Amino acid sequence: MVCRLRHALWEPDMARYTCPACGYVYDEETGAPREGYPAGTRWESLPEDFACPDCAVRYKDDFVEEQASDEPATGAQGSLA
Ligand SMILES: [Zn+2]
Repeated sequence: MVCRLRHALWEPDMARYTCPACGYVYDEETGAPREGYPAGTRWESLPEDFACPDCAVRYKDDFVEEQASDEPATGAQGSLA
């Protein structure tokens, strides 16, 4: 498995979900390998009883989906005078 493209390619349909209790972020792109969910595991694929790996007091239903910003993929911006 190649993990070196993490920052190079951003799949626009990869979502992230934040635990409202502790701020843990489940990123579909990285998954939660410690919990047995490899990188790329979709939120929909997680079991309904998926608990926050950090605080374990919040479950899947409690997580808040992060709103992806519609930034155009332009690397550097505004520095060309
Ligand atoms: Zn948590």
